Amino acid sequence: MKRIYLDHSATTPVAPEVLEAMLPYFTEKFGNASSLHSVGREAKQALEESREKVAGLLGAEPGELIFTSGGTESDNLALKGVAYRNKKKGKHVITTRIEHPAVLETCRKLETEGFEVTYLPVTSEGLVEPGILESAIREDTILISVMHANNEIGTIQPLEEIGKIAAEKDIYFHTDAVQSVGKIPTDVDAIGVDLLSLSSHKLYGPKGIGALYIRKGTRLESIIQGGGHERGLRPGTENIAGIVGLAKAAELARETMATEAERLAGLRDRLADLILENVKNAWINGTMKKRLPGNINFGFRYVEGESLLLFLDSKGIAVSTGSACSSKKLEPSHVLLSLGLPPEECHGSLRITLGRSNTEEDADYVAQAIAEAVERFRSISALGRGS
Ligand code: PLP
Repeated sequence: MKRIYLDHSATTPVAPEVLEAMLPYFTEKFGNASSLHSVGREAKQALEESREKVAGLLGAEPGELIFTSGGTESDNLALKGVAYRNKKKGKHVITTRIEHPAVLETCRKLETEGFEVTYLPVTSEGLVEPGILESAIREDTILISVMHANNEIGTIQPLEEIGKIAAEKDIYFHTDAVQSVGKIPTDVDAIGVDLLSLSSHKLYGPKGIGALYIRKGTRLESIIQGGGHERGLRPGTENIAGIVGLAKAAELARETMATEAERLAGLRDRLADLILENVKNAWINGTMKKRLPGNINFGFRYVEGESLLLFLDSKGIAVSTGSACSSKKLEPSHVLLSLGLPPEECHGSLRITLGRSNTEEDADYVAQAIAEAVERFRSISALGRGS
């Protein structure tokens, strides 16, 4: 059976060049980067060269980047690290209602520790309004955390504007850029952030490795204790093979980003047109104007997203109903609810995220399979009949 993978926001395959770059670091170049002998020094050199490459993708200085185990850890370190270190200055944090659980749950944890968090609403298009953000700022606000691109609906937030507001008020600004790094430009000076989280497995690198960009001068503390690795901010023997893989993935992303973004946006728009032309009572969640090139999130009235997903899976097509982390919960997506959709309409959503392997042929095949599936499910549902 033909298999089409359309869930690149959940994870991506490791690119062949990435795997090739990593392999020697499991076997002959297995050193501990803290060891003083030549085996260790070889690992240390790979670590620092990798740091330069990943920093290059962000327009950052290598010394401003530390490696972590992935997006979740980077988010935890950014939020808790800044909150704990700056709590004498204030205990108020601003974030949005559509963040990934790696940010939302960290904020909830901070709330149990005496911090106050404002969760900003978004427009029905899925965008944060800088004016609303500005009016939420208080004397004791120490941190603003707004994601760059949303993992479910792909909307891209106005970070440049928010960055200016944060800088004017002297408040640290963090972004969860797990979904945007490698797909759209993420120059830290252009978007005006002090901290940025990224994750390797979303950009054709291995799982279990990520990074946190920390602008020079940003005050934060480690959230785990141990040796002095990564400037003491992330103790633990470095995962050199993973770090080398992330660096190679970053290098590849830098080379191909512009052409791949254009190609994926073309496929995305083709798929959107085909579905909206051929399926009644269908819509797109989130604005099409400021959106990741490979992301499309459909809503279908009178259909369960999970039934659609399983039907498509039986045809070899892998899609998602929301974020990979929440899709097993069968609760309406917090992102779609934040757009103002009623719960029953959130249940009929389908997220398609395109990537390197996808072609125009895939888009046509999937559009047809979705149209067929929606029709079939509606024909057996009392509400959907005749729609
Ligand atoms: N933040 C966002 C926006 C994500 O989409 C994800 C993963 O889906 C994460 C954070 C967590 O990243 P990781 O899987 O590397 O922990």
